[in-house]
Amino acid sequence: MPDIILTHGFFLAEDPKEQEIMRPYPPLGLLYISSYLRSSGMAPLVFDSTFSDRDAFTALLRKSDCRILGIYTTHMTRASVIAQVQAAKGEGYTVIVGGPDSAGYPGQYIEHGADIVVIGEGEAALAELIPLLSRGKPDSVSLNEIEGLVYRDKEGSVVRTLPRAPLDINYIPWPDRENINLDCYLESWYASHGETSINLITSRGCRYGCRWCSHSVFGKTERRRKVTDCADEVEWIKHRYNPGQLWYADDVFTMDHNWIYRFSAELRSRGIYLPFETISRADRMQEEKLVKELAGMGCRRIWIGSESGSNRILKAMGRGVTAEQICHAVELSKQQGIETGIFLMWGYEGETLEDIELTVEHVKRCLPDIFFTTVVHPIRGTSYYEEVSDRIIHPDDWVSATDKDLAIRGRKSAAFYRAADQWLKNSVKAHRLKNCEPENAARYAAEAEKARERAGVLWNE
Ligand code: SF4
Repeated sequence: MPDIILTHGFFLAEDPKEQEIMRPYPPLGLLYISSYLRSSGMAPLVFDSTFSDRDAFTALLRKSDCRILGIYTTHMTRASVIAQVQAAKGEGYTVIVGGPDSAGYPGQYIEHGADIVVIGEGEAALAELIPLLSRGKPDSVSLNEIEGLVYRDKEGSVVRTLPRAPLDINYIPWPDRENINLDCYLESWYASHGETSINLITSRGCRYGCRWCSHSVFGKTERRRKVTDCADEVEWIKHRYNPGQLWYADDVFTMDHNWIYRFSAELRSRGIYLPFETISRADRMQEEKLVKELAGMGCRRIWIGSESGSNRILKAMGRGVTAEQICHAVELSKQQGIETGIFLMWGYEGETLEDIELTVEHVKRCLPDIFFTTVVHPIRGTSYYEEVSDRIIHPDDWVSATDKDLAIRGRKSAAFYRAADQWLKNSVKAHRLKNCEPENAARYAAEAEKARERAGVLWNE
């Protein structure tokens, strides 16, 4: 009998957008918990919902002898997770939730059926909780001794225990990839992209303070794994799955340059070369030597958070980078043959039409291979959320909403941000084509101008 069933609320079949993108990755957070519990002598069962369905989940709940369920929550899966919580409660389970969304809304998760919310990293908290729960319904005194929990005591009050210190990640075993059917991921990747990709992390946490970014699970310090242990994991992944590429899913892969040089040398000494993509910050990508090293290691694509082309807005965001550094990082990457992708964010506090114009010019100057825009939304627990909290309009139905649905009084309309998107996209297309396809360039420039005018009208509405 398993000691706990672990799951998450993402069902690929229910997400048409993700089906289009089709770049699914195994739930690393859950697989880390699984391996940690296993190394503590327990037997976790992972129900990986990604390629499964709700009937299979309900059937498992019914047939299992285990009566403890742990669910990983994200900002996008709230409604799905609440449905899982309620299904499990109907079968008599004790339900524990953890992850970024429940860290922001522990009281609401408890109100909707969860028994215990784990705040922060879940490995050690679950290793302490499971033996306690297996002995029957725990009293408040025992629960109160476990750090990093929120629960309802016998008087009905929601209680929070002391925070839990971050784990030493060099003592956590590798993610328990063998506890799920990883072939589903590899096959989907292969069918959609003609190659496969596998995710891993070399660090947890981020020491930067971008004001909208949530640090609720891994905290505000960066903890990096040992070079040799990461190289061992890469080597094992290569032999076990032979993927076409890796996805280093760290917050900032190039945070520690010395670590990168040592890791690169270690892989080289073992004769391992695996193409990869990853994410970083522009200020950690300013040296040609570093970018060259990344290219030599197999970096084929780097994602960089740009957010804005206005240094005034970047400063207000607490980003700690400048528009010039972003362009330099993109330029260095291009010189080394690394594809570049940047993320942009509209609607930060104080953004003006001039800032949007600066962002359009910034993207034209950087000319990354790909760029994505989003409208900033406040995540509970962040300084940005605090800053706008008196203007947040909460949706009536918390369960079916996500933080993306939080409206902010005084913010521009969705139509305005659509116009800003069109302005940006058409301007960049016109800029790219101006020398090789002048006629098409002129057409896009005219579209950009129309969108800019529309944005100007909508700005004043
Ligand atoms: S946005 Fe990136 S760099 Fe900034 S705090 Fe978050 S993880 Fe760190």
